[in-house]
Amino acid sequence: MNHPVAVIGAGPFGLSTAAHLRARGIPVRAFGEPMVSWRAHMPAGMLLKSTPAASNIDAPQRGHTLGDYCAAAGIRRLVTDEDIIPVETFVAYGEWFQQKLVPDLERVRVVSVDRRGAGGFELKLDSGEQFTARAVVVATGLSGLSYLPQELAAAAPDGPAPTAAVSHSSQHHDLTRFAGKDLIVVGAGQSALETAALAAEAGARVRVVARGRGAVAFGAPPWEQPRLRPESPFGRAWSLYAISYYPHPYRYLPAAARHFLVRRILGPLGAWWLRDRFEGAVKVREVSRIVRAGAPGGRPMLAVQTLGGRTEELSADHVIAATGYRVDIAAMDFLGHELRTQLAVSRGTPKLGAGYRSSVPGLYFTGLPAAASYGPVMRFVCGTEFASPRLARHLAAAHG
Ligand SMILES: Cc1cc2nc3c(=O)[nH]c(=O)nc-3n(C[C@H](O)[C@H](O)[C@H](O)COP(=O)(O)OP(=O)(O)OC[C@H]3O[C@@H](n4cnc5c(N)ncnc54)[C@H](O)[C@@H]3O)c2cc1C
Repeated sequence: MNHPVAVIGAGPFGLSTAAHLRARGIPVRAFGEPMVSWRAHMPAGMLLKSTPAASNIDAPQRGHTLGDYCAAAGIRRLVTDEDIIPVETFVAYGEWFQQKLVPDLERVRVVSVDRRGAGGFELKLDSGEQFTARAVVVATGLSGLSYLPQELAAAAPDGPAPTAAVSHSSQHHDLTRFAGKDLIVVGAGQSALETAALAAEAGARVRVVARGRGAVAFGAPPWEQPRLRPESPFGRAWSLYAISYYPHPYRYLPAAARHFLVRRILGPLGAWWLRDRFEGAVKVREVSRIVRAGAPGGRPMLAVQTLGGRTEELSADHVIAATGYRVDIAAMDFLGHELRTQLAVSRGTPKLGAGYRSSVPGLYFTGLPAAASYGPVMRFVCGTEFASPRLARHLAAAHG
C-alpha cells in the first residue's frame, strides 16, 4: 500500500513525529500552521516556563535542539536553567525545525477523517482535496480544547471572545488592548499569572481571582532546588523524574489515578522569575469558588464565595478565563462521527496502547490528547523525546 501517513498538526509534537517518520523512510503528508498555538494563542512578550533543556523538539538526527537553533541564528545561546526563553525565540526555533526537517508541510486544515473500508483513512482538506492515508497521527495539541467552566460560561452566552464580557486566555496575543482598563484574570496557573503580569505592565488594573488559600504560588529558582533529589526537565523531585523518564508504565495505573495525576503533577505554579514582576503589580483575590457570572449591561460580574463563606460581587471591564484546556474527543470535530464512536475513550480522552496507537488500527494520538495515557509529560514540549521515536517505531512496524 503506497498511501502516505497523515500527520495532523504542526506544533512541536506534529513536527517531531513527522520528522521521525520521514527518517524511517515512510511517506508522510503533514498538515497545519507551524507553531500557531505559540504564535497566535499565547501573549506577545511571554517567556517560557520550561528551561532550555526541557524545550527541545525531538529530532531523529543530531543538530536540531534549541541550542543548535540559537547557534545557527547567531543569537545568544540558551542553555542553563537560568536562561529564560522568549516565546518569539521558541516560535522561530519551531519554524526553523519545520523548514529543515518537514519542508513539505502543507499549511491547510484537515476538515474530516473517516475510516476507509478495508484499511486506511479518507481525509478531506479545506483546499478541497480528498486522499487516502494508510495511518493518521493526530497532533492537534491545544486547538479547539480551551476550557471555560460552566459558571463563567453564563457571562458569555455567545461563547467567550475578546469583545465579549468574558474571553479565554487563548484568545489573546496582544494584551495592550487592556491599557487603562479593569481586568479580572481567573486562574492560578502560569498562564493566568503571566497574562496578569503582562496586562499590568501594559497599563491595566489587574486582579487575579484564584480558588483556595495560598492558591497563587511560585516555584523555587534553580539555585534553591534541593540538591539531593534527581534532576528532571521540570526541577528536582522523584515524582518529576519518574514522569519525565518513565512515562511508559503510566498507562497501567487505574483510570482515576491517571486522570488525577495529569491534573495535579506539574499543576498550577508560577515560574520563579515571574514573582517579582507579579507581586505589587497585580492584586490577588482568593475565593472559595465562583458561584455564578453575568454581564448586566455588558459589564462582567462575578459572584464569588469568600473564604469566610460570604457571597460578594466583583466586576471589571473584562474577565479573562485562564482556565486551561480539556481533552474531549467530541470537540475534535474533524474526526468523523463513526470514527469517534468506534474509539475507546476514558473521560473524553482516547485510550492509547503501546506506541500511542488508539483502539482504531492505524489511528494514533500524541501530545496533549495522550496525557491521560502517558502522563503529564505529554503536555510539554520535552514529551516529544519519549513519544515521537516510539510512535514512529510502532507505526513503521504495523503500517510501514
Ligand atoms: C500559555 C501557555 C504556555 C505554555 N508554556 C509552555 C512551556 O513553557 N513549555 C512547554 O513545554 N509547554 C508549554 N505549554 C504547553 C504547550 O502549548 C504544548 O506543550 C505544545 O504546544 C503542544 O504541542 P502540540 O504540537 O501538541 O500542539 P500545538 O502546539 O497546540 O499545535 C497544534 C497544531 O495542530 C494544527 N491543527 C489543529 N487542528 C488542525 C486541523 N484540523 N488540520 C490541520 N492542522 C490542525 C495547528 O495548526 C497547529 O499546527 C504552554 C501552553 C500554554 C497555553
